[in-house]
Amino acid sequence: MTLATIPKHPSGKAKTQSMTPLSESEISALNRWWDGKASVADHACVLTLLDRLHTGSAWLACACTGNDDDPPLMAVARNSMTQGLSLRRLPDRPAHRSDCRYASEMREPLQDEGEGADDTDWGGDPDDGGGDETVAAGEPLQPNFVFAVARSARAQRQEAALERVGSDRGTTIHLLARRMFWLLHEAGTNRWPQPYTTTDQVALLELAKKIELTQGLVLWDVLYCHPWDWWENKMDTGFDKCEGQGLKPQVWWLCEIEDACQKAKWVHLVGDGRQVDIDGRLAIYGGDGSPARYPMLMCALVARLPDGAVRIMQAYAHPIQAIKWWLPVDSNLERQAVRDLLSVMNWLQDDKQVLLEMLKPLFSWNATGARPDFVVSHRQDPKPCVVIETMGREDASYRERKLRTLQRLAAHTVIEDDRVKDPTGAGKKLSSAVARWALGTSVRGSPRGRRGALSCS
Ligand SMILES: [Zn+2]
Repeated sequence: MTLATIPKHPSGKAKTQSMTPLSESEISALNRWWDGKASVADHACVLTLLDRLHTGSAWLACACTGNDDDPPLMAVARNSMTQGLSLRRLPDRPAHRSDCRYASEMREPLQDEGEGADDTDWGGDPDDGGGDETVAAGEPLQPNFVFAVARSARAQRQEAALERVGSDRGTTIHLLARRMFWLLHEAGTNRWPQPYTTTDQVALLELAKKIELTQGLVLWDVLYCHPWDWWENKMDTGFDKCEGQGLKPQVWWLCEIEDACQKAKWVHLVGDGRQVDIDGRLAIYGGDGSPARYPMLMCALVARLPDGAVRIMQAYAHPIQAIKWWLPVDSNLERQAVRDLLSVMNWLQDDKQVLLEMLKPLFSWNATGARPDFVVSHRQDPKPCVVIETMGREDASYRERKLRTLQRLAAHTVIEDDRVKDPTGAGKKLSSAVARWALGTSVRGSPRGRRGALSCS
């Protein structure tokens, strides 16, 4: 017996007798798959096996150490290279023997082009700054990214091409943006009131801890919010833990920046002033000439190379509402709209006892296939909501995209916030439109106003 399924169990309570050995054919298919040599039939066999583990709430035990009472355990994890599923060793269980194939990373099935220090082509195009990206409705929110195994530049490009499939007419979301947005969405920094009582930075780390607990993964170790660690050479622990699990030694930074140049590939971290060079590609939302400026949040992929050098392999920066609020915004006009919305929501709360909440969707929202700028909802059931669309630019293609978004949102009440046409009066107009809607749809308001109001929960 070399591999067996075992029901998931709390640490220290393994029961050897509950192990079910895999068949010889399953083991050889799995081994070939791990070595990157799987046939179509092997793939089908492995996917069935992983699905069985996943749905049956089981782990895979490896007999390489000879210790059946406390074997290395592997759990099903997500990995875009393998049609969604892969295996990861549980970090708090024994390691494989060093000559066990599962002690090293899974090999990708493609011809590896070699990946060295000079390979800075990481795929993914700089965002075109369209600001109106939509993704296919019903797409799972969680991208398959969190624990990347080592991949060649070619594989990354293929992955990038895959991510474009299903996106709306050529508009794409930068891969790092997707990663960053997913984390921010999960942590709730795109909501008001914020669902946590701490800072956005700590909320992100709390999220990391939660993910670690629910998936047996170690995001905590690979997600750093403090770039100072880099200056002080404190990245080693994270890198070492990555390598201990057969993962590429890389960490994710989320940090605020106050200045950057996409072309010259440098950024200034907030509060520091030192220039940080990006070794790979830097993409700034909207490019160097974008009117939406700082502060921005940067998501950077930082890796330790075989020669020990630590490099920022790729980075993406997106404007946020404020240094203290990691709410991604697409323009300065949106920043103003957020301030206006907060002010009217606070007034409604204090003076009218109408409690509202705001969401900035970062992915397609509510099965509409569109990503509206803001959604304001009542906090009380049935939570009627209103969509706010900020008109950020005058040009025809922007307006056309907006129109498409509005068509998709036709079932909802929409307030159009035309800041370009009326920069001085827009705030007042938005506030009174939201107040009118809130009072008309509130539990204390007239029942007529509530009729036909769509629940957004
Ligand atoms: Zn093993």
